[in-house]
Amino acid sequence: MMSNDEGFLRRAIGLAASAREAGNPPFGSLLVGPDGTVLAEERNTVLTDRDIAAHPEQKLARWAARELDAETAAATTMYTSCQPCTMCAGAIDRSGLGRVVFALSGEQLTGLKPPADPPRVLLEGPALFEEARVPLEGYYR
Ligand SMILES: [Zn+2]
Repeated sequence: MMSNDEGFLRRAIGLAASAREAGNPPFGSLLVGPDGTVLAEERNTVLTDRDIAAHPEQKLARWAARELDAETAAATTMYTSCQPCTMCAGAIDRSGLGRVVFALSGEQLTGLKPPADPPRVLLEGPALFEEARVPLEGYYR
């Protein structure tokens, strides 16, 4: 961690508290650009937006991919009150952001929550390879 990381993490924790005050799960995040200025802040709005993807990390990753050039994104840090979930980690990876600093780990979060049911979705596949590959032919060249 760098010298000013804790200050930005405290801001993320403050955003988490304000998310809870607004009736949402208690998570918050912000982006700090290469020059150390705050570029954007987000709170979890899953409940008030009725949007299962409205995690602050997800919203900021999408914002970064849309608004920042690749060089700026790579030099931008996301500070977040909790380690990004797998959905957000995937979005962050695609966004080009260069660094994430989190307060609570996923394991620490699990320890603060009641036990959760295991995932219920059934994933079935692969299937129809010869047909499914046709739309991809030549795309990744
Ligand atoms: Zn997430």
